[in-house]
Amino acid sequence: MLSVSERAETARRAKRAYKARRSAGWVLGEPVPKLATVYARDNGVCYLCGERTTPPLGKATDPRDPKRPTIDHLVALSRGGKDTYANVKLACMLCNRRKSNR
Ligand SMILES: [Zn+2]
Repeated sequence: MLSVSERAETARRAKRAYKARRSAGWVLGEPVPKLATVYARDNGVCYLCGERTTPPLGKATDPRDPKRPTIDHLVALSRGGKDTYANVKLACMLCNRRKSNR
């Protein structure tokens, strides 16, 4: 049995976690984009260079692989973009890194 103050602390913690998700672009009722799903939707092709990325399915991706598929947000989360399928595209590691360095 939780005490009143413990319950209040649990509620505060849940509220903080909820706010953190919201601020990171998480939208209530919307599924958070999964790499495998975005990969399948975009046919494994990077939307920036048009080249095929390394399939992420079945085996672990090599972090040094420049053709590693990543999820790219059309509107960056830091600029208020949402973490939804409508706001993400498949991009290879190389393009994603190039874009974020701009
Ligand atoms: Zn690319």
